[in-house]
Amino acid sequence: MVEAVQIPVERIKESKLGQVDFSNLGFGKYFSDHMLEADYVNGEWTSVKIRPYQDLGFLPALSVLHYSQTIFEGQKAHKDENGNIHIFRPHENWKRLNRSADRMAMPNVPEEIFVDGMKQLIELDKAFIPSGYDESLYIRPFLFATEETLGVKESNSYKFLIITGPVGSYFSAPARIYVEEKYTRAAPGGTGAAKTGGNYAASLLSSAEARKQGYDQVLWMDANEHKYVQEVGAMNILFVIDGKIITPDLTDGTILSGITRMSLIELFKEKGYTVDERKVSIDEIVEAYKNGSLQEVFGCGTAATISHVRELKYKDFVMEFDVDSMTISADMKKYLLDYKENLHGDPHGWLEKV
Ligand SMILES: *Cc1c(COP(=O)(O)O)cnc(C)c1O
Repeated sequence: MVEAVQIPVERIKESKLGQVDFSNLGFGKYFSDHMLEADYVNGEWTSVKIRPYQDLGFLPALSVLHYSQTIFEGQKAHKDENGNIHIFRPHENWKRLNRSADRMAMPNVPEEIFVDGMKQLIELDKAFIPSGYDESLYIRPFLFATEETLGVKESNSYKFLIITGPVGSYFSAPARIYVEEKYTRAAPGGTGAAKTGGNYAASLLSSAEARKQGYDQVLWMDANEHKYVQEVGAMNILFVIDGKIITPDLTDGTILSGITRMSLIELFKEKGYTVDERKVSIDEIVEAYKNGSLQEVFGCGTAATISHVRELKYKDFVMEFDVDSMTISADMKKYLLDYKENLHGDPHGWLEKV
């Protein structure tokens, strides 16, 4: 194995660790002492460094502020009972970041910066990793355009950063969602499969309207016919119908390929379930609800792992579910959480040690 290149570190003068209330971590509230930073200039990655989390200082013409050329990742590191630190499938995040980069006409980030740099950053700030069950260090890598110009074209310079922060166990109350009929998130040929800020910006009005009506999220439908299910907020969606796992397939490029989704599909198959990845129409879901074969509905993503749906509304038709009876997904949620806490000995080789 090639020894990872050491990235130069400028250490913080006074740690902010004392300001963290580990009994009430929440999500995205605290940031660790350091960040990784690298610049892409003249076709090359330069000035890779780790320094204190701080103000970046930028000019008003920074191109990302105008044309949104920006992508990100979201992942977690857990500390196990023996104090060992593992990141869950970081190479998948690295590959996905670079797929997003390709779609957004941005440069790829090398593995040594993304994966090895991430490990070095986490090692340095490991005191911030909470050790409670399902508590973790959230990791946010992101890349954005930094050219100073108002010209509309891909930027000639970029900045890559990794920031991290401790997050608590993510209790997500069973969600109430409705089928979005007015707005769309992604169309074939668009950017739905890229983890880019613009997809989120375009979704905020829809989620604000959902909240006003007392709902938590919307279920996105295909842009052409509003007939086929895509995903929910920052989560992929799965259904259990007649004991089978059913989830929209990724083939038309409108759905983000979740690493949680990918992992669940593998685990469900291993446990003997049939998993169908295919087009899922809302009519099929309504029909399955009416004939009693729709057993479970849940979203999945890094933040919550699995989040159950207790109400799904389509037009005026309300589908209500007894979340306590959703044992297939509840058992799987526990299995995957235990897996990340290194309680299963990592049979799939998904945990990378820091
Ligand atoms: C990040 C994300 C997901 C979930 O992906 P994970 O890798 O499982 O966290 C799903 N949908 C969207 C739109 C996302 O941005």
